[in-house]
Amino acid sequence: MSDLEKLVEETAVELLRIAATELPDEYVEEMNSLMGETRGAVGKAQLKNILEDADIARKNSMPMCQDTGIVAFMVKLGDEFPLRSELKKILVEATKIATEQVPLRPNAVDMFKGNTGNNVGLNGYVPIIYWDVVPGDNLEIIAMPKGGGSTNVAASRMLKPGLGIKGVKQFVVEAVAKAGSLGCPPYFVGVGVGGGEDLCMKLAKNALLKPFKVRSEKKEVAAIEEELYRKLNELEIGAMGLGEGPSVMDVHMEMAARHPASLPVGVVISCWALRHAKATISPDGEVRIDTSV
Ligand code: SF4
Repeated sequence: MSDLEKLVEETAVELLRIAATELPDEYVEEMNSLMGETRGAVGKAQLKNILEDADIARKNSMPMCQDTGIVAFMVKLGDEFPLRSELKKILVEATKIATEQVPLRPNAVDMFKGNTGNNVGLNGYVPIIYWDVVPGDNLEIIAMPKGGGSTNVAASRMLKPGLGIKGVKQFVVEAVAKAGSLGCPPYFVGVGVGGGEDLCMKLAKNALLKPFKVRSEKKEVAAIEEELYRKLNELEIGAMGLGEGPSVMDVHMEMAARHPASLPVGVVISCWALRHAKATISPDGEVRIDTSV
């Protein structure tokens, strides 16, 4: 293994450790301020528990939740970065190492043989790796492990195009109302519109990682995000689904063109533990880690 390969592997392990154990500061700050605004004692207590948990996890470098998620990486590979096809093997290996070292709960199940025990499997599909080849010579890796509880409340629907934006908003509200307490709110909600049955879900997942509390630069989309944020909080699901405190921390929407006959909508929901960490690696081995994405 070359020095650069080793560095990428170690960095990916570190990203998985950070993601599992350090809730990003901006979420902690927002939850603290929402706790101050929460009137009911039950809602306050839930937020306090989450914040204490996040604090203990960070101080002791221990996972903030027993479900450390299914491992995913979003990779932006500069077309002049020296490593290419080797990267998948490196990220798979990093996942195995992180499973032992962090440790991460083994969350990859072979339907016929049971848990693979190392968060890797089957047929090269897990860890999930999303590739994007971009100009430049840097490698950017985002580790984004996602828990099963909030993954189970994801939703997608092929709407009739005539329903338009009104139909999209209605579906998102329905999906989050149906999620209720099941995915450990307060939620982060990603909405993907357009593309097709697969791309709308990918767009929704990408939307989760848009900068926290920063609205879309497109004013029509920003207005929808703002309206959804308000409407979803009016559902009063509350912290951990107990009816008090915030239901939703943020909402982002990502759009692609759609087929004239289709209006695909994807809703990807994250629990309060929206875990991610990003590293940018230069060809000469400089590593910059950023937890705010
Ligand atoms: S939904 Fe999130 S907080 Fe709840 S158990 Fe799963 S990973 Fe943990």
